[in-house]
Amino acid sequence: MQRMPVLFVGHGSPMNAIEQNPLTRKWREIGQHLPRPRAILAISAHWFAPGTWVNDEVQPRQIYDMYGFPRELYELKYPAQGAPELAARVQSQAPCTVDNNWGIDHGTWSVLVHVFPDADIPVCQLSIDRTATPEQHNKIGRQLAALRDEGVLILGSGNIVHNLRRVDFNSEGGEPWAYTFDQAVGDKIRQHDHAALLHPETFSPEAARLAIPTPDHYWPLLYVLGAARPDDTIESFNEICQYGSLSMTGYRFG
Ligand code: ZN
Repeated sequence: MQRMPVLFVGHGSPMNAIEQNPLTRKWREIGQHLPRPRAILAISAHWFAPGTWVNDEVQPRQIYDMYGFPRELYELKYPAQGAPELAARVQSQAPCTVDNNWGIDHGTWSVLVHVFPDADIPVCQLSIDRTATPEQHNKIGRQLAALRDEGVLILGSGNIVHNLRRVDFNSEGGEPWAYTFDQAVGDKIRQHDHAALLHPETFSPEAARLAIPTPDHYWPLLYVLGAARPDDTIESFNEICQYGSLSMTGYRFG
């Protein structure tokens, strides 16, 4: 079986789920060029929990975990099946337990609705333990890397720059520190300097403080880096900043 690539996607505004824009068109293009996965393991910034949990329902709930958006967004259905077999494999590779109280959140479906619009690939979500260290998140990514050879697409969904308190919806691009940080992270990714990426405050202290006020949207990247291999090709996409304090940059490894 062909080894699957690993993806980090900057998901940004939930509105991307129902919009057709250059970012979402790129997500579609990526889906068209990926080998067809047997199942998807999504690590979304929005399942930020006090433990590492995995859902194993045959039909997981779709969660509308965002507030104050147009009704159309809450009516969007992404009826992907769950992936109990994958959930079992995840538990055999990494320390985690089953929890079906969450489901599939917008960090996952707002992206997948474009990448795999037919919703015909089973999806399983893994939570991000908010009490764990960057090293522990990265290690789980390494433990899950073997799944790539079993046809599993590992998808990290977050944002490298994500500061909602500074968001300005009238701002076209990003504030200077947002570009600085996004590019510094990109440089480290291309240099394979994963040790630095676990602690971005060491190489870009000022910008990191502004870009990662809370780690929920950055940490999905650490799983993806763990699952990446040194010989993977690295492709970046959607390298833009918007609303002042969000970057939409994504990476495909392999
Ligand atoms: Zn988000």
